[in-house]
Amino acid sequence: MKQLEIQGLTLGYGRREILHGASLDALRGGAITALIGPNGAGKSTLLRGLAGLLPARGSVRLDGQEMIGLRLEHRARHIAYMPQSLPQGVALTVMEALLGALRASPTAEGQLSASAATERALDLLEQLGIPHLALVGLDRLSGGQRQLAGLAQALVRRPQVLLLDEPTSALDLRYQLSVMELVRKLTRQHGLVTVVVVHDLALAARYADEVVMLAGGTIRAQGTPEATLTPAMLAEVYGVSARVERCSHGHLQVLADAALPA
Ligand code: ADP
Ligand code: MG
Repeated sequence: MKQLEIQGLTLGYGRREILHGASLDALRGGAITALIGPNGAGKSTLLRGLAGLLPARGSVRLDGQEMIGLRLEHRARHIAYMPQSLPQGVALTVMEALLGALRASPTAEGQLSASAATERALDLLEQLGIPHLALVGLDRLSGGQRQLAGLAQALVRRPQVLLLDEPTSALDLRYQLSVMELVRKLTRQHGLVTVVVVHDLALAARYADEVVMLAGGTIRAQGTPEATLTPAMLAEVYGVSARVERCSHGHLQVLADAALPA
């Protein structure tokens, strides 16, 4: 089983340190970890650091192999990252972007032939329910469609670690569920280590095997949704008074009642 071990991870921008030696219990393959926390907590910074896009100190080991210091194209073979906001003004079609991602760094299987690459890209678009967007320009897509195309770009190389920064924020209800279902299916099927930043705590509770709560650049809690999404933690981390209840289907629901005085 794959696992990702993060120890003493320090990250920031220039001299501004955002994450101060963060350590986590090993993240397991086949499980979805929801990364949650208030705005500015450092969630995106943490994912960028794991993806190798920011200079970092500390240790990030995938199955014992140190990722820090690995060249980006090597790291990208193992770790796929979907940013919170996808780059604008890219004059490529969805299919061209996927083929570009496949060429940019070798997959675990080495370079694919052009026909194998096209077939894989089309398969994936089918799974995501967007085969009709293959030949549409990225700059012509709606916000939700761009997120699905971004997700396809992250998945196409069949990474071992999948880092998704708010992949459902622009999606309507149906797509939120179908994207999370697909992410769960792929995570289970391929034993991926999947970390997803989600704002919607009900969505986190529903799909996450584990929750990591971040606030002020510090890990505040890690554990099952039941253990972490408690009124006390929600008060401490989000500054809200909240109820956590089970709905008639048995799913955890988080009901935020009021902002607590600062
Ligand atoms: P979150 O994703 O949890 O909302 P971020 O990781 O985006 O939080 O931001 C954490 C902190 O890092 C914030 O204080 C933010 O202002 C700062 N920050 C984010 N991006 C940059 C950047 N490119 N340069 C400098 N500071 C940044
Ligand atoms: Mg963010």
